[in-house]
Amino acid sequence: MAQINENYLKLPGSYLFSDIAKKVAAYQAEHPEKEVIKMGIGDVTRPLVPAVIEAMHKAVDEMGTAEGFRGYGPEQGYDFLREKIVENDYAGLGIEPDEIFVSDGAKSDCGNIGDIFGPDNKVAVCDPVYPVYVDTNAMAGRAGDFAGDKWSNLYYMPCTAENGFMPELPKEKVDMIYLCFPNNPTGETLTKEQLKSWVDYARENGSVILFDSAYEAFITEADVPHSIYEVEGAKEVAIEFRSFSKTAGFTGTRCAYTVVPKALKVNGTELNALWNRRQCTKFNGVPYVIQRAAEAVYTEEGRAQIRENIDYYLGNARIIRDALEKAGLEVYGGVNSPYVWAKTPDGMKSWDFFDKLLTEAGVVTTPGSGFGPSGEGYIRFTAFSTKENTEKAMDRITNILK
Ligand SMILES: *Cc1c(COP(=O)(O)O)cnc(C)c1O
Repeated sequence: MAQINENYLKLPGSYLFSDIAKKVAAYQAEHPEKEVIKMGIGDVTRPLVPAVIEAMHKAVDEMGTAEGFRGYGPEQGYDFLREKIVENDYAGLGIEPDEIFVSDGAKSDCGNIGDIFGPDNKVAVCDPVYPVYVDTNAMAGRAGDFAGDKWSNLYYMPCTAENGFMPELPKEKVDMIYLCFPNNPTGETLTKEQLKSWVDYARENGSVILFDSAYEAFITEADVPHSIYEVEGAKEVAIEFRSFSKTAGFTGTRCAYTVVPKALKVNGTELNALWNRRQCTKFNGVPYVIQRAAEAVYTEEGRAQIRENIDYYLGNARIIRDALEKAGLEVYGGVNSPYVWAKTPDGMKSWDFFDKLLTEAGVVTTPGSGFGPSGEGYIRFTAFSTKENTEKAMDRITNILK
């Protein structure tokens, strides 16, 4: 008789966004005249930029000719894109094109990377956290059992206002460490010096850091590292994930990449070779048209056009920060990130504040507790709405918090 992967049965339902959707639907049914503004889900809204669209059109036309047609591409991505990535995103950092693996998403890569790690690794995650790291390790049997609000075998690193959202180095030995900076959901960052303490920890303990840099393009401050490889010695201990999703509006287009340096070895085995084997076996590459679209992000026009969109979102983040601060809330993130993380007023529970914002202001947010136990007492706003709706939402919130 066939057996299933029993680890899947241990997963608690992923109720966060469906619970939110249910509450919003109920509210709208009761108040059909009220316009609800959504500042909850982390998806971009600005259209793809002209340079990207032009490159896609051109690639589509090529595919319709005998000379230009492409079938299966290299599993690791086309050289034209891997070279552009290295030249632009890793200038001066000594990363080689064959250390870049182009993929259909940082979400899938963050999950799939677990394939090349043993089942007994101790995994450390920040709390609150992007749920993909936790759930994929639970599916792989590395998380133990879900008891109450935590997995028994995961090592949780609380990131709260009290520690400046900087996870504390583990007091016990951990083997795989997920770090995401600029962070989703808190919007906070680490300085290069802080990141260095993690690289040092990993070097001392033989751990591997899985560094999610999906929001790199939103960094505005000078001392915030864009890549973990800016820290000396990181190539021996870290894998980095990047994505065109938030950078260039590719959430529906799908293109990302993962950097696995050849210097990264576990017990003498190069992880680059293992990841290459994994990808060649289970993945058949990103469409040619999409890789040409991603390449266009690195042209002069492309770069200027995506910058404009990122600045637009960062402008919204500023509007959110300013309004919430004026309303008397403690506010974090939003400077190097499209996320603003705010403490609820008067110690309210995340869900209670969520309900208040929905029913009194008609604004949808994400309750911090949905990202982990240490997110309780916080709420997340995203800057991905239009400027007009962001302003309108902040006016309404200012009014109800008076
Ligand atoms: C949005 C996001 C990603 C990007 O995922 P894609 O699959 O490339 O769209 C990765 N990590 C975090 C933390 C994110 O919020």
